[in-house]
Amino acid sequence: MEVGDGTLAVGAGRPGAENFAPALPGPVFAGHYHLAGEASGPYTYGRDSNPTWTLLEQAIGELEGGAEVVSFSSGMAAVSAVLLSQVRVGDVVVLPDDCYLTTRALRERLESYGAVVRMAPTAGDAQAALVDGARLVWLETPSNPGLDVCDIARVVAAAHAAGALVAVDNTLATPLGQRPLDLGADFSVASDTKALTGHGDLLLGHVATRDPGLADAIRLWRKTVGAVPGPMEAWLAHRSLATLQLRLERQSANALALAEALWGRVSGLRYPGSPDDPSHEVAVRQMRRFGCVVSFTLPSEDAAERFLGSLRLVMQATSFGGVQSSAERRGRWGGDAVEPGFIRFSVGIEDTEDLVADVLQALEKIT
Ligand SMILES: *Cc1c(COP(=O)(O)O)cnc(C)c1O
Repeated sequence: MEVGDGTLAVGAGRPGAENFAPALPGPVFAGHYHLAGEASGPYTYGRDSNPTWTLLEQAIGELEGGAEVVSFSSGMAAVSAVLLSQVRVGDVVVLPDDCYLTTRALRERLESYGAVVRMAPTAGDAQAALVDGARLVWLETPSNPGLDVCDIARVVAAAHAAGALVAVDNTLATPLGQRPLDLGADFSVASDTKALTGHGDLLLGHVATRDPGLADAIRLWRKTVGAVPGPMEAWLAHRSLATLQLRLERQSANALALAEALWGRVSGLRYPGSPDDPSHEVAVRQMRRFGCVVSFTLPSEDAAERFLGSLRLVMQATSFGGVQSSAERRGRWGGDAVEPGFIRFSVGIEDTEDLVADVLQALEKIT
């Protein structure tokens, strides 16, 4: 039965009705399982498999539109699982030069293992020009923190024609915002620390693929390096999925309202869901929801700090995707090509009028 996203999110990965069983079984804490005789079966040792992961992975697989999912202890554990398990000495990898900074930091690691890394910006599908002879093309769209968008299907077509695999970091959109596998990508990868779980209380990541051989390779990588999720985190994540559609709906509505309120008042305003955004035309072709991150630039570092300090409802913090709005001056970390006054704003699920009023009063403090 085809169902809507809210229905899908509520039921995803939940076991069928069984009398006296809970709707969602609690976390299974086990280092090992009873195992007599042959060393085989679904659950043997805690680094290989866990029933709480199994349910979460089924749930995320349903949200991804049908896929095998391997969950990890963090987003970076998932990102590095794809890059480091698929790339060998001499292989060419194409990375975006404006993607998440810790993903970019893997360049050095890949090169130290003898891979060749090529880089181009996300905007304008510039990576498509670098796919000749590549083994793996890594996309991140919308990109963090610049919010540029590339045409996934178009880059996939170019990459597949050149014999390369394509992985998409789908952290910002979540599978209810965009489904990279439906657009032809081989891997959909995400930090589930962010919007997918949305409460800012755990770290987790996942890799989704429809190719059983690739799924096996990723699962083997997890077992070998031991980057396994804790059962408690996996269970909390699964519980959080039930409200994913509700959270995303409110966050995208708030983000659009905020972008509209900021229009003309700040420079460099970006939100792919806004019809005025340079990414909008491509975004509407491949996204169903445009995420919760809005970015803009204030005149100086000092103005940005005063703006942040004047917000009453918005937590000053890094990360994004949480139920409570948060914001930061991204340049404080170094490593991203952003102005000193650049603000990455993560829109939460507060009442729209309250959030917009808070941001406007904080802007007045700096003008
Ligand atoms: C946060 C983030 C990651 C890394 O995720 P962690 O859970 O912090 O390890 C990877 N990609 C993107 C786009 C992110 O925003």
